[in-house]
Amino acid sequence: MIFRQFIESETSTYTYLVASRKSGEAILIDPVKEMLESYLRILKELDLKLVYALDTHVHADHVTALGALREATGAVSVMGAETRAACVSERIKDGDILRFGGLEIKALHTPGHTDDSYSYLMNDRVFTGDTLLIRGTGRTDFQNGDPSAQYDSIFGKLLTLPDETLVYPGHDYRGWTVSTIGEERRFNPRLQVKSREEYIELMNNLRLDHPKYMDVAVPANLECGLN
Ligand code: FE
Repeated sequence: MIFRQFIESETSTYTYLVASRKSGEAILIDPVKEMLESYLRILKELDLKLVYALDTHVHADHVTALGALREATGAVSVMGAETRAACVSERIKDGDILRFGGLEIKALHTPGHTDDSYSYLMNDRVFTGDTLLIRGTGRTDFQNGDPSAQYDSIFGKLLTLPDETLVYPGHDYRGWTVSTIGEERRFNPRLQVKSREEYIELMNNLRLDHPKYMDVAVPANLECGLN
């Protein structure tokens, strides 16, 4: 398996390339529009064919490359069934499996950061989008965010995975690139709560600024970053 992690440094967004060496089929998770040329370049250099481009949710902080990648490579763009982005080619739901080049990736609906938030599970690793971050969790105060739903997504789904499962998040603002489920259970300060109520209370009192590019990014992403 080929695996690459990219960072878009202005918004600290991670993008993941996963591919099968045997077949050359590849997927990209959470591609950023400004990075399009990098993705096309590595696909060419490694002789890969992009079959799926997935977004874990409608992003509020950067513009997606889903539409541009579909146009450039013919890849199928994928988001969860709940998304308001009408432009995506394929909608997946909880438990669905995407297959490419002999590899499989399983969609887990993990709402809370947004109602259309998905995580993607693949053997020893899970791509958690903005649901579970390293030593943090995605904010729940816009785009139909819901701390109670996020509590269920994290405690009821993600933390039931084996402790050694690698956690690859959608962002990290301190440069941490990977964690594990066991590590987050023990050391993530947001997860040291005793009840759902305590988690809701915590999330409702973060008092964060609005993301810089939200007014641009959300409308653009509802059109897959085109126009
Ligand atoms: Fe987000």
